[in-house]
Amino acid sequence: MSSGNLSTMQMEKEARRRKFYQDKIRNRESLKSCGMNLITTVEKTITNHSREAELLKYFNEMLHSIFFLGYIHEYRLHPKDFVSTDEVHRSLSCKFPEPFIMYNSHLPTRTPFSILLEMMEILYETEERIKQELAILLKSMKFPNPLHKEGSKYEQYYTLESTVICVCYSNLDSRKYYGASFCCRKGNAKTILIDLSCLKTWHEYVSHAVMSFHGGASGDGITFPTELKCRAFYRDWKENVYNEKRPCANCKKLFNLPNADPDKVEHPFGNCAETECLSKLLKNDQYMQQKAMIPNHSEEHLEKLRNSTKARLTVQLRKAGIECTDNNFLFYNPCVKQNVTIC
Ligand SMILES: [Zn+2]
Repeated sequence: MSSGNLSTMQMEKEARRRKFYQDKIRNRESLKSCGMNLITTVEKTITNHSREAELLKYFNEMLHSIFFLGYIHEYRLHPKDFVSTDEVHRSLSCKFPEPFIMYNSHLPTRTPFSILLEMMEILYETEERIKQELAILLKSMKFPNPLHKEGSKYEQYYTLESTVICVCYSNLDSRKYYGASFCCRKGNAKTILIDLSCLKTWHEYVSHAVMSFHGGASGDGITFPTELKCRAFYRDWKENVYNEKRPCANCKKLFNLPNADPDKVEHPFGNCAETECLSKLLKNDQYMQQKAMIPNHSEEHLEKLRNSTKARLTVQLRKAGIECTDNNFLFYNPCVKQNVTIC
């Protein structure tokens, strides 16, 4: 090999290395600005609202979830990085001291976007208005497009926007349930949040199904009665409206949803909006609870799945700088007031 060839190869290697780090830095900056934007916009939306007192609990939980995601990012972000000035930092940490202290000792049970979606339910009540107002709010925040950039499979921004939301209900009941896909797109944040949801957040059938498919295993899917209606939507960036989309192949396996898209799926089991929304339905709808079926569901089997999830999660969290043992997962609860003060 000539020295000319070698130096070209070295230059290409160096360019690839530089691009790799530039992507990571841009990814971190994107998370930072999206977090900052979300905090400011949501605070403005709920201030002086007639249901402000109730909404503040969600805002508190959202702060914690954003700070946690910042902390576990490979180029760590601290709560202070998500606020624009020292003054804002002082005022926010005075009003909500817990998220500023417990962001790396306690674990979130859902993503900032899932919390936002629940706030939208309180604010706007009907499905049409929730979708409409959510699209307007997201457009106003100018998050970068979360999808893969054209031409590069790997180049994507870390945004806190979930690309898909889902609505489900039983034909026998008028109540609708909402869910969002996982908004943390990079590194191990997504798998950590999915594992945390399996252990703490989701209905046990949903957790069982998701955990059973882990690592390519042929798992146990849930079959719902025919009264279930479930529809997912993605935000069309040009028109700024939510359009319906078919369930993916993973959701077909997990929930036996009809009319699924057979194309191969890149994201892990449990990532989809259907997961959160069907879990809420199962937790609240007695008829669905009684009629839904999942094979091999026993306390022992569930315990086995939980134990391997806990072991995997402990390792992932340690890598992200959070020390937990298998039996010591402390979850953040915004309803429990801690005796902490910052100001
Ligand atoms: Zn899916």
